[in-house]
Amino acid sequence: MNLRQTNLERLAKESFDVLIIGAGINGAIAAAALSTQGAHVALIDRGDFASLTSQESSNLVWGGIKYLESFEFGLVRKLCRCRNELIASYPASVREIRFLVTLARGFRWPRSMLYAGAWFYWLIGSGFTRTPRLLSRSAISREEPVVNVGSSPGGFEYSDAYLIDNDARFTFRFVRGALDYGAVVANYAGASHSARNPDGVWVTPVTDSLTGSRFQIRSRTLINACGPYVDAYNEASAQPTEHCHVLSKGIHITVKRLSATPRVLTFFASDGRLFFVIPMGPVSCIGTTDTRVALPETVVSEADRRFVLDNINKRLRLAKPLTPDDILAERCGVRPLAVSRSRGDTATQDWTALSRKHVIELDPRTGYMSIFGGKLTDCLNVGREVSAALHTFGIRLPFRRTKWYGEPDRKIRDEFLHRAALLGLDAMTAPESSEPMSKRLWRRYGWRALSLLEDIRQDPRMAEVLIKGTEYTRCELYHAAQHEMVTRLEDFLRRRSKIALIARRDTIRQAPGLMEACRILFGDDAQARFEEYFADRSSV
Ligand SMILES: Cc1cc2nc3c(=O)[nH]c(=O)nc-3n(C[C@H](O)[C@H](O)[C@H](O)COP(=O)(O)OP(=O)(O)OC[C@H]3O[C@@H](n4cnc5c(N)ncnc54)[C@H](O)[C@@H]3O)c2cc1C
Repeated sequence: MNLRQTNLERLAKESFDVLIIGAGINGAIAAAALSTQGAHVALIDRGDFASLTSQESSNLVWGGIKYLESFEFGLVRKLCRCRNELIASYPASVREIRFLVTLARGFRWPRSMLYAGAWFYWLIGSGFTRTPRLLSRSAISREEPVVNVGSSPGGFEYSDAYLIDNDARFTFRFVRGALDYGAVVANYAGASHSARNPDGVWVTPVTDSLTGSRFQIRSRTLINACGPYVDAYNEASAQPTEHCHVLSKGIHITVKRLSATPRVLTFFASDGRLFFVIPMGPVSCIGTTDTRVALPETVVSEADRRFVLDNINKRLRLAKPLTPDDILAERCGVRPLAVSRSRGDTATQDWTALSRKHVIELDPRTGYMSIFGGKLTDCLNVGREVSAALHTFGIRLPFRRTKWYGEPDRKIRDEFLHRAALLGLDAMTAPESSEPMSKRLWRRYGWRALSLLEDIRQDPRMAEVLIKGTEYTRCELYHAAQHEMVTRLEDFLRRRSKIALIARRDTIRQAPGLMEACRILFGDDAQARFEEYFADRSSV
């Protein structure tokens, strides 16, 4: 029996301190924090982990310089502190990156003012990153020849941070962390609603979406972390709340890498919003948009695609303008933005200035919690607030002081890198990347990477790239099969790895080694899972 099946049986049999519904970043981090601190935690998601908003972000860990314009200094300070803490706690995965801003002539703020704003942002961020730099038009041209400086008055550079892998992989780190500390976790397990028995126990009917089988989970408290579906879930469970969500759609496209430098090229799009070209391994990720939508289910429309392509073609100096044929992959998600119900209808008035703050609403009488809004960058604050709230619900957290986040300490990393060097992995790179395999394995698997070294020692073929055209090696596939609850091929291609974000579907389909990867992941179901992925046009 595999880990998921074992966990489904346990979910039906055991009784939990807390059931967390939804395993995006907010649910995952709550599960990691609470299980490390000693609560008996259940975590379910009706899709794969991070298969909704938390796989559609810009992968930026940032203080939100743009919120200075709406005078949200408190939010910016909080996000900057969280950014700094993430950079310090995840040195292999979250890295400082320079944002090179090129301004258009006649922009609503003069360059000197924006540059002063960048310094203010730096100060608000405790001076944790490199200092801002003013750039003339010719300096931009020299440093980033791909930028069309046209009649630009120049620009400036400042720092924030980004996720070197991808948002969904980062989220999975917390799911895995929760599993390591005893949480009982399952993907493809959807809850319809929750009801509280007279004895004070919450009962949640759940359906395993792979088999259709149904069971119930019993818990003392509940956390609704359904992202854009928080309101729908509260309604189904008859939970009144002061806050609700309004939804903002954002899309990204990926194309072949446009600039070799590790910088985010930053512009203001025709709607006046910040617009980025973000490096993502061998590709550039371009976006995003901000459009109010009524429902969480959205797709990239022709108009979205046109908006992104038109804006980027105007701002870059390319041999040939980008067309839809250049798009390798597209992503689309909705930001759930928290508003108080009384403000819900007026939210359109200043749409793009709506706050990105998260709100955690509690009902201590029933032990029910809803997480509204927020940003991936804010995740450590969410984890802390959730554990403080659970404590007020009367759930004992015997290990409240235990640290529940961060990469393993430097000594373990140095020991890993030393052992990896003895195997020659520090000199091994994948054709697609200049990064040594040792560093890559450490970033993705942390202390678990030590067991990958053992696999490679026993069989050197384990260090070979398995899916040609990607950087994923045979030992990583075995590792994913055993430890990462990969249930469908999309889980691996789109979320545990970022293969589906950097290569076209047809290229992936033809990739030598993909069928062997499927056999490792799914055994006898390999062919069925392969066909399921390529038959589903909605998978990227
Ligand atoms: C275009 C875009 C760009 C962004 N860029 C950034 C950025 O660069 N930096 C940043 O910090 N933030 C960014 N964000 C914001 C960030 O992505 C979100 O704040 C965050 O991912 C929300 O996480 P969540 O856990 O609340 O929701 P989600 O990730 O949506 O998770 C909710 C989960 O609940 C599950 N679920 C729903 N209903 C049920 C049910 N009934 N039963 C079981 N499971 C259920 C869903 O399947 C889903 O997995 C961006 C967002 C968007 C859309």
